[in-house]
Amino acid sequence: MSGEPLALYVHWPFCVSKCPYCDFNSHVRDLIDQDAWRQALLADLAHEASLLPGRTLTSIFFGGGTPSLMEPSTVEAVITAATDHWTPDDRIEVTLEANPNSVEAARFADLAKAGVNRVSLGLQSFDDRALAFLGRAHSAREGFSALEAAQRNFRRVSFDFIYALPGDTEDSWSAMLAQALSLGTSHLSLYQLTIEPGTRFASMVARREFEPLDADAAAELFELTDAMTSAAGMPAYEISNHARKGQESRHNLTYWRYGDYAGIGPGAHGRRLGRRTVRHRKPENFLTAIRRNAHGILEDALLAPVEAADEALVMGLRLREGVDAQAIADRFGLPAVVDWNRVERLVLSGYLTREGTRIGLTAKGRLLLDHILGDIAAVEEPRVLAVG
Ligand code: SF4
Repeated sequence: MSGEPLALYVHWPFCVSKCPYCDFNSHVRDLIDQDAWRQALLADLAHEASLLPGRTLTSIFFGGGTPSLMEPSTVEAVITAATDHWTPDDRIEVTLEANPNSVEAARFADLAKAGVNRVSLGLQSFDDRALAFLGRAHSAREGFSALEAAQRNFRRVSFDFIYALPGDTEDSWSAMLAQALSLGTSHLSLYQLTIEPGTRFASMVARREFEPLDADAAAELFELTDAMTSAAGMPAYEISNHARKGQESRHNLTYWRYGDYAGIGPGAHGRRLGRRTVRHRKPENFLTAIRRNAHGILEDALLAPVEAADEALVMGLRLREGVDAQAIADRFGLPAVVDWNRVERLVLSGYLTREGTRIGLTAKGRLLLDHILGDIAAVEEPRVLAVG
């Protein structure tokens, strides 16, 4: 596998508070021993490197949690170790997720010096009432100044917005999106609010404290988003991600194109050498595992070809470029991953496009991704090869 591309995901599991919609692996702790965490991440990284010699590192992504709360020296230590273990690609992309409060923005210059070259800011809204509803610790004003600081320090800046909140209308969302598009970033992640099980929002909805926006209104906002971002030269290259040409997230493209990535830190997932890896989620359990085993792995399992092919199809269909369904089948030794008759039906009814064996979702199809996947998936057991 020498020279094969590899992406690295690093999970920092701490936040200052827990947002009510969040189902990520994030924890609030009074004290964080930065030295212990630096050593733990470096040990976990060394374990992955020992299994993946000779690879070319194309991207590093610090996600969380709130990785902008990491000491810049910890970020630098991880980047240095990763680029020592593997050969960095000439255009290596190093992204860090940041929250827009002033303490974190003050670290941007140090993070840039540490080797971060792209920042993804969790702005979420420019409306203080929406930010309060989302339980965010920053105001709209702090959001604007963090964005300005990010643009001063990093060549590539993206930010996240959450829309389709209760009460959102086409007028309110188009005004906010127009403002977002006018700020000169080259990448935007625009997510609809979804109520995830186990979150505070899920309990509030169950207690009827608020009602989520209904599905039809949310679909209209999705279509509006598609039209406005396309007109502004930042079309969706993935269901929720928009970029100017060439400014797509290289790291996330690795996931969606089903390339190999190592995942380190609490709860991080990885896919490498045909295996799925999952780390211990709870920070304390992760540190105990590191002390015992010198890695934080909870699960390291071989993926059955059917499972891997299904994942590759699910990920690939999220992309505007679509996915070559037969190439996936060939890669995993399967006769087919889709039922071509059903694909044809969905092409005729305007939900899918097809060119040869490459299929993709139309604008109408993007609203029904899960449904379409369930309809076309035809992953079969691998062919039994003759032996002898
Ligand atoms: S800042 Fe992000 S990771 Fe942390 S609780 Fe809020 S949504 Fe979750």
